Amino acid sequence: MRILVPGGAGYIGSHIVRELIDAGDLVVIIDNLETGHREAVHPKAKFYQGDIRNRDFVDRVLDQEKIEAVIHFAANSLVGESMVNPLKYYDNNLYGTKVLLESMVAHGVDKIVFSSTAATYGEPESIPILETDRTEPTNPYGETKLAMEKMMKWTGVAHGLRYVALRYFNACGAHESGELGEAHNPETHLIPLILQVPNGQRKAISIYGEDYHTKDGTCVRDYIHVTDLAQAHILAVKYLMEGGESNVFNLGNGVGFTVKEVIETARRVTGHPIPAEIAPRRGGDPARLIASSEKAQRVLGWKPEHGDLEEIIASAWKWHQAHPNGY
Ligand code: UDP
Repeated sequence: MRILVPGGAGYIGSHIVRELIDAGDLVVIIDNLETGHREAVHPKAKFYQGDIRNRDFVDRVLDQEKIEAVIHFAANSLVGESMVNPLKYYDNNLYGTKVLLESMVAHGVDKIVFSSTAATYGEPESIPILETDRTEPTNPYGETKLAMEKMMKWTGVAHGLRYVALRYFNACGAHESGELGEAHNPETHLIPLILQVPNGQRKAISIYGEDYHTKDGTCVRDYIHVTDLAQAHILAVKYLMEGGESNVFNLGNGVGFTVKEVIETARRVTGHPIPAEIAPRRGGDPARLIASSEKAQRVLGWKPEHGDLEEIIASAWKWHQAHPNGY
């Protein structure tokens, strides 16, 4: 298949591109390299550097390449940044997706899989979270991702486009080769920040709040390996190719770990004491987020295979040790 991957130079996008190419698909990447990395672009992918907000650019790519489906990662994804700069998120995530969809409709490309997020739910009404649960985002990042889902829904009603929205829980880990991994600047995610301590780049890890109603007082999250996420995208494209209707799926392991448990596991994996200090809560952090991914397992046939937290952290550690400053 010929697949267009906007955002294919980013953390999650680059892992999916790798799996697609390993499976024999032809991949065309577009990325503005604002947060993506040229080094993460697969050498066998065709690469166009540019911005999805530029209609002429997207049209040129779709004129030149015969695309069957799109897997869309091109978005900003930092909760904290979205709180201080919401309009950046409305511009890149929403306006960018609007331009991409316009060009897809004009070119008769009618299938799209895209990264959504557990942040679409906001404070969960129950655990584990089901796709049918209330969606009330507590930050502009989640709000724009939810609006992207709705934009695709209504574009589908009007123009026959079909979409799969994949609501990721906490994406983490790195490719088994050690060649691809997480490289955000600034880094805000828990596991890469923890690993900066044994890497000598940080003296201690801060724990954001110890007074939540959880078993040890720290927040619980569902950590899902990026390689498992990659498999779900491949299955979602297959589902659409086989005529599946537009749909939304949670992607998580269905198991929650506290911040303290993650730090303890990282101590075991790295053999480093990793000092931790208690810091104030971070605004907008729900106490517990755990996915039910029963629907993805039943409808897509997805089965996460790298759910063991030690394995997840070991893969991330392999990447960060070899690439302490990213790519
Ligand atoms: N967290 C923390 N210290 C850090 C970074 C994150 O205690 O330096 C906590 C954060 O409050 C949340 C969990 O770790 O409960 C996961 O945060 P992350 O930013 O990795 O992902 P999110 O859950 O926001 O998508």
